[in-house]
Amino acid sequence: TPEQLRQWDNDHVWHPFTPMQAYREEDAPIIERGEGFSLFDVNGTEYLDGISSLWCNVHGHQVPEIDAAIKEQLGKIGHSTLLGLSSTPSIELAKKLVELTPENLTKVFYTDSGATAVEAALKIAYQYHQQKKSGPEDRRLFGTVRGAYHGDTIGSVSVGSMELFHSIYGKLLFETVTVPSPAVLHRPDGTSAADSIQHCFDEAERIITEHGDQLAAFIVEPLVQGAAGILVHPQGYLKHLRELTSRHGIPLIADEVAVGFGRTGTLFACEQEEVQPDLMCVAKGLTGGYLPVAATLASDEIFEAFLAEPAAGKTFFHGHTFTGNPLGCAAALASIELFEQNSILEKTQQNAAIMAEKLKPLADHPNVGEVRQKGIMVGIELVARRDPVEAYPTTQRTGHLVTLAARKRGAILRPLGDVVVLMPAPAMPRELVERLCDIAVDAIVEVTESVRLN
Ligand code: PLP
Repeated sequence: TPEQLRQWDNDHVWHPFTPMQAYREEDAPIIERGEGFSLFDVNGTEYLDGISSLWCNVHGHQVPEIDAAIKEQLGKIGHSTLLGLSSTPSIELAKKLVELTPENLTKVFYTDSGATAVEAALKIAYQYHQQKKSGPEDRRLFGTVRGAYHGDTIGSVSVGSMELFHSIYGKLLFETVTVPSPAVLHRPDGTSAADSIQHCFDEAERIITEHGDQLAAFIVEPLVQGAAGILVHPQGYLKHLRELTSRHGIPLIADEVAVGFGRTGTLFACEQEEVQPDLMCVAKGLTGGYLPVAATLASDEIFEAFLAEPAAGKTFFHGHTFTGNPLGCAAALASIELFEQNSILEKTQQNAAIMAEKLKPLADHPNVGEVRQKGIMVGIELVARRDPVEAYPTTQRTGHLVTLAARKRGAILRPLGDVVVLMPAPAMPRELVERLCDIAVDAIVEVTESVRLN
């Protein structure tokens, strides 16, 4: 029964990133099935999936073509291993990914989540310098952008700069240098947005130049820092990082885990600034959000450092039991085919315009500091006061209250602190995108009014 499930969930399931006591109090829905762009809980209540099931769902739930591809693959084999063997869907998917990603990327290393795709990229970059043709170098430092989130493994936490994570695991992490994020809302008093952005461009140049011969790689979420609160980078920033890293022979890792597969309006965010990274991580939307397959793509130059001449000492010693899972690869191939068949990128661009229009009223709301948007990634930052910007007390959990109010109205959202994130699936139909925006606006108005009155 639903009551029994609730009890067992509370008794036995340790939920990720969740304060467990708060979880017990809040009666979060237990999802039983998904259909189209809706989720249904064990009581039969329907919710619009406003965050694409953690930013990964692309075409909706129970998509006939993806379901059929998985079932067909199940009729052959569910899993063997890539270690020493290969599999048909993983080969076909690798070929497809190489065709779709920037031209210089030719090799696909399979992993199983965004964090492990990043972890692989970091280790590849480190080992690359030790084995590269131009002579070995011991580069141990990694460059990153303030506020970055690249996953929860020790390596990916090291290059992330979420304060909460560092306060707990700091002593286990390796050393990084951090450049400021060119996000402009929380800039020092008296500085203009343009000055603040220029300062970030200059600081990136100063810091990367200063550590040019020590950096094993520089990692960036292209165009949008997702978990930092949908921080949209100004035009030219990614290109700037590419130029700086190229100048010093530093591999650039593009973490396209969140922005890849259509979220910013193009298949990959790097396309928008014609940037060719040396390593690129994809996950979330790769399988249409169905199954845990991820990949780290590498350029020929990086890969050549691992060619086994004369002995096997150059091997990349990394790999997991379930990487390149054939069911996941079959789902990914079906999902990629649907992008073209259903003109998903055009739909995404139309949905982005609809969202911008529907959320316009929030621009003047006294408790909305900023509405940030790139494609269909939207972050609405709630503030106690706009001028000067003053955050709500964290103990009030205003963002969280908005998601509860949205849930009552029939939509699932997930806050990042006091940033309310809207992340519809790229294929979501127009009328549902409109409904999602209406629910978010109503929930924000209700909650900000009630906390003001309190
Ligand atoms: N990189 C980025 C940019 C992300 O947004 C995330 C997850 O949100 C990750 C890496 C980690 O992905 P995963 O949760 O699949 O490990």
